[in-house]
This record gives sequence, structure tokens and C-alpha cells, in this order.
Amino acid sequence: MSLLKVARLGHPVLRKIADEVDPGEIPSEKIQSLIEDMIDTMREYDGVGLAAPQVHQSLQIAVIESHSNPRYPKAPDIPLIVLINPEITHISKETDDDWESCLSIDDCRGKVSRAREIKVSAFDRTGEKIFLDAVDFLAVVLQHETDHLNGMLYLDRMKDMKTLAHMKEFEKFWEGK
Ligand code: ZN
Repeated sequence: MSLLKVARLGHPVLRKIADEVDPGEIPSEKIQSLIEDMIDTMREYDGVGLAAPQVHQSLQIAVIESHSNPRYPKAPDIPLIVLINPEITHISKETDDDWESCLSIDDCRGKVSRAREIKVSAFDRTGEKIFLDAVDFLAVVLQHETDHLNGMLYLDRMKDMKTLAHMKEFEKFWEGK
């Protein structure tokens, strides 16, 4: 198991559009061990998703997983998903506002408006094409992670920066709102 250093807000790698992975390179040791290390890093820091730019690799790779996560106690279980070169093929007009946080933006949470439903196509870690049709929490995580691959952070999506809060203050003043 290998843990990777997480790039924090202000690091330029978080603001670059990540490079596509050559599908022929997906089975390579370099890409496979990066994916393994991203999964380990996401689990270690209780993330529900992690994008390669967050570990200083400007590549279109993201991992997603959620199992009784202490940072998101109400989140449904999501089995491990590995996305390479994801493409959004449909995004609903209907939106929901909910709280998001990010391993690259320590100890903060803010309210973000996201499409309720999203369809994504991508390669999985074996190089197979996958198609995801997601609603609610998974749709939010997919939008958050694909944003990372395009140099965007949830802060850019916030309608009202006044909802940005540190975790302790979130729990005290904003929980349930
Ligand atoms: Zn993030």
C-alpha cells in the first residue's frame, strides 16, 4: 500500500485540464499502480472520491467509493468505481443543493448546486468502456470528480460563498440546513 501526497488548494495542478490517458496505456504498470495508490489514498483519508490531479498527476483518472464514511455519514454505499477519460453524455436541468467538501480543501464544507442526474461514459481500469447513469449522491460525486479533471473545484460552483464553513462551524451552525 502506498499513500500519495494530496495537492491542496492553491497548487496549480488542481487548476489544469488533465491529459487524457491513451487507452493502450491503461494496462501499463504506471497507470495500474497509480490507480491502486489513488484507491489507498482515498480510503486512508475517508474520501468518497479522488481525482489524479489531487495527487499531482495531471491525468484523466478518478476513483469513487463509499462505505459508511465518517465524513458523509448519510451517504449511500457506492462500490468502487474507476473512471478513465470520463465524458459527461447527459446532465439534467433539474438541480439539487447539497454540502460538499474536498480532500484538497482541508476542513471546509460549502453548499453547491449540482445536476440531479448525470450520465457518464468512461474506460474502467481494465480498459473496458463503462456507462453510468447516476442520480443524487453518486451524481454529485461524479460531477465533483469530473470537475477536478477540468481544473475546477467545488468552490467555483458555489452560488453563495457565505455557506463556506469550517467543519466544526458547519456542525454547529449549518448541519441539516
Ligand atoms: Zn475534491
